Amino acid sequence: MRSRNCLAVALMALLVPVGAQAAGCSAGSSYALVLHGGYLDYEEEVTPAHRQLLQRLLVEGKAGLAAGGTALDAVSTAIRAMEDSGLLDAGKGSIVNTEGFTETDASIMDGATGRSGAVAAMQRVRNPILASRIVMEHTRHVLLVGATGEQSLRGLGAEMVDPATWYQEFVPPPKPVERKHGTVGAAALDRCGHLAAGTSTGGWPGKLPGRVGDSPIIGASTYADTRVALSATGVGEYFIKRAATRDIAMRVQYLGQPLKAATDHVVKTLIGKEDKAEGAVIALGVDGEVVVSSNGYGILWGAAQSGHEPVLGTREPGAGAPGITLR
Ligand code: ASP
Repeated sequence: MRSRNCLAVALMALLVPVGAQAAGCSAGSSYALVLHGGYLDYEEEVTPAHRQLLQRLLVEGKAGLAAGGTALDAVSTAIRAMEDSGLLDAGKGSIVNTEGFTETDASIMDGATGRSGAVAAMQRVRNPILASRIVMEHTRHVLLVGATGEQSLRGLGAEMVDPATWYQEFVPPPKPVERKHGTVGAAALDRCGHLAAGTSTGGWPGKLPGRVGDSPIIGASTYADTRVALSATGVGEYFIKRAATRDIAMRVQYLGQPLKAATDHVVKTLIGKEDKAEGAVIALGVDGEVVVSSNGYGILWGAAQSGHEPVLGTREPGAGAPGITLR
């Protein structure tokens, strides 16, 4: 009985509103937002529309953080816009599976509290990232899946769409490139010094109905704690098997590895060299350090940090690149 009461208290604690964390932040604290639009095989996968979208979201996200917005809001607002853009493999632009219909996955994590929420194999939810946040903030659970999960989410106020008219599987660029990626993700640091991360995807082309990738798995694709915030893209099966983003965070926490070294080890050595699988990760440290690591050509990424102009890239930034570290 006693343990059941303890459980009830713990579950109530999970439901504390997120906005509470904004109080008491120092006006002078640094802040940052890092976005990604998926692993890249070729530069040609990136169009001017992609760059404009990320640039706009970085400017807006930076303004929100400067005004005292939370890291969680910065992450969910940016990912929601990328989902609605139809330009990337997430939300409206999600790819179709082998049976020709779309199933989406997403997750979000609050580094300050460890609270997290996720959805998988969604067909009708308009914004998987917002649905993930509903799971985190309004249920006792971490992950809701499939049609019955969507029924629960509908009851909790998630916006639904008609799949027949909503999805517009993203159109490959005119060049002969096999466009395979476009998962989106974000990591943010707010003026309270809190971190958050999120990821959203339609998955991989050729995926079977019911397949769930790494994007809704906390510790595989999305992870945030008091030191780091991470979002991954690539062949999700390997990120799940490696518990990839959790591994990076634990390398930083337990081994004291620098964020760049920890991220590169998991992305390039473990998933790249050992597994021979494609993937990339964006990482943001609590000191404002931005890390971008890819074991292929690159990743579409952008970063906006206090005191710096937003920067966009398609490959890993070189060491000491301007605007990449606040230290
Ligand atoms: N990681 C995603 C998945 O496996 C796909 C991607 O990032 O391109 O579902």
